[in-house]
Amino acid sequence: MKTLIVTGGAGFIGSNFIHHLFSKQSFSGKVINLDKLTYAGNLNNLTAIENQFGGNRYFFEHADICDNSRVSEIFNKYKPDIIVNFAAESHVDRSIDSPMDFINTNITGTAILLQNALHHYRSLDKDSKNQFRFLHVSTDEVYGSLGDEGLFEETTSYDPNSPYSASKASSDHLVRAWYRTFGLPVLITNCSNNYGPYQFPEKLIPLMITKCLNHRPLPVYGNGLNVRDWLHVDDHCEAIVLVITKGKVGETYNIGGRNEIRNIDLVNKICRITDTLKPSDRVESYTELITFVQDRPCNDSRYAIDSTKIELELGWKPAVHFEDGLHKTIEWYALYSGRLS
Ligand code: NAD
Repeated sequence: MKTLIVTGGAGFIGSNFIHHLFSKQSFSGKVINLDKLTYAGNLNNLTAIENQFGGNRYFFEHADICDNSRVSEIFNKYKPDIIVNFAAESHVDRSIDSPMDFINTNITGTAILLQNALHHYRSLDKDSKNQFRFLHVSTDEVYGSLGDEGLFEETTSYDPNSPYSASKASSDHLVRAWYRTFGLPVLITNCSNNYGPYQFPEKLIPLMITKCLNHRPLPVYGNGLNVRDWLHVDDHCEAIVLVITKGKVGETYNIGGRNEIRNIDLVNKICRITDTLKPSDRVESYTELITFVQDRPCNDSRYAIDSTKIELELGWKPAVHFEDGLHKTIEWYALYSGRLS
């Protein structure tokens, strides 16, 4: 990996991915972070990287993936050999309130990236063509919802329910089509829910942590019985590195933690850890702040990933134990918000 364009690199997983890459002894390449800086993008996530590698091996380009001329300019300037596409509108609730933002960025933006990648790919010599990869980061939500049994496999039919998951499903189809029609060397990863540092506090885990730390009600959708499969973001980042370097072109890899938990159990767990880390002076336990609220209209009941393919073919397995990862994540938010000295 010599020159990577990482779209959405100022967001949660993108910024963790950039940290992950630069922490690797074996990585000596350059990273171009192409990000529009929506509410979810935060360049402070990358201050340490900017200070150490800025202008030398790390470059930030403030750009929208829907802006064809800017994307083309960036491709011409840096001549990348790897594209990792994290840029997206990523929050299901927001996709219900304003679906068009999701259609624009997740579908049109991905198509614009693919067209520019193809144009660039066609200009490369044979060796560079062999090394070129376009990795599209997607979600397990494209597969829809599971009952009590079963797991999503790479061959599971797409059945998205929310505007978010439908827009991600569309983008996955486009990426696959650019491989089958034009021969662009693409890879797709479909991952379960991530947790870890640098996440905008609107998704379940950082939302509950920051609500606890601020003594606010903890809103749990419906009866809290929906099941999600959680993966530490570092494990996801390592999986992406493996897929880029060893994955078979044109293939999809599912990535999951084999770590299913009901939302209500997760929220209770977060409360108990926060009770020990930053005890409240107002309630005996943060669990007292749990409030059940009306469910969202398209709340899938269960997601669970079968990661056998990436485990067997690429030798990946998650390394972060959920309790440890959750503890460190809560610690990070407490420190970050100045509530832990
Ligand atoms: P995020 O919302 O934290 O970050 C998205 C980033 O993309 C932000 O920095 C934002 O500024 C940028 N962005 C948005 N629109 C853009 C545009 N038009 N042009 C350029 N940049 C733009 O998202 P995340 O949680 O880091 O997710 C990254 C990717 O991983 C997404 O594609 C998401 O669908 C996928 N994914 C996320 C999870 C998860 O649990 N968070 C799980 C599976 C897959």
